[in-house]
Amino acid sequence: MPCPLCDDTGWKPVESAGHPVRRVERCDCWREGLGRQRLADAGIPRRYQHCTIANFTAYNESLERAAEKARQIAGAFPSAGKGLFLEGPPGVGKTHLAVAVLKQVVSTTGARGLFYDTRDLLRVIRSTYDASIHTTELDVLRPVMKADLLVLDDLGAEKTSEWVEETMNLIVNTRYNERRLTVFTSNYPDIPDDTDPDSLLFRIGHRMRSRLHEMCEFEAMDGGDYREMPANGGIDDLITLWKTRRKQSLPSRAGRQARAQLREPSVRDGKADLKWPGGRAGS
Ligand SMILES: [Zn+2]
Repeated sequence: MPCPLCDDTGWKPVESAGHPVRRVERCDCWREGLGRQRLADAGIPRRYQHCTIANFTAYNESLERAAEKARQIAGAFPSAGKGLFLEGPPGVGKTHLAVAVLKQVVSTTGARGLFYDTRDLLRVIRSTYDASIHTTELDVLRPVMKADLLVLDDLGAEKTSEWVEETMNLIVNTRYNERRLTVFTSNYPDIPDDTDPDSLLFRIGHRMRSRLHEMCEFEAMDGGDYREMPANGGIDDLITLWKTRRKQSLPSRAGRQARAQLREPSVRDGKADLKWPGGRAGS
């Protein structure tokens, strides 16, 4: 059945009262078609394709806050000032929300959206250095830098090296300078400790972290791992998983502090002093 508004021309007449000249504008069906095409091109992995903000289960305050922020950013596009950085342990729904924002923006506005797992992206860029592959680094980087909305999933998962840092800084800085919106997810908590190998700062470095704070709002998400949910499980199972996880994470954090305190007296300890030849370690 042809479109009742435009008869499949993609242009619909605009009625303007008392105006003798008939005008046309892009039809709704054209915008929807474009949105569908752009969505298909966005590279969203199959297992996240069903994700929307409406079907995200928020069963605690941190998840409600994150969902609300996702709703705001998706609704305000393209005038949303800042992007979004979702941090939290695996399985709390960070990628779900990031994909949901991407899907809503692309399907309602027809904007160019792109999803990349950070490690996949780096692997693809690296593969272009192989002479037998006929894509260049720029072929891969251009759409990443130019996308109206980019999701970079699992930031910090790749072990840092000078090359990784340079590549990521190029992508992030270009998008920042061009005022393009980016949504990040990361399993690494944003704690200001660059000696803790599990901190975001340790994984991505000071320069990148401060740039991310300029361009994104940070939302820390806490919850159970939905992948551990029993088949046919529900919200109660998630809450149980969340509570168990909290109990497990508290002792390990307390343990880290206890170990730090143990280290101190041992340095002042007489026996330790005797064994210590003086001077800096390794000198
Ligand atoms: Zn139409």
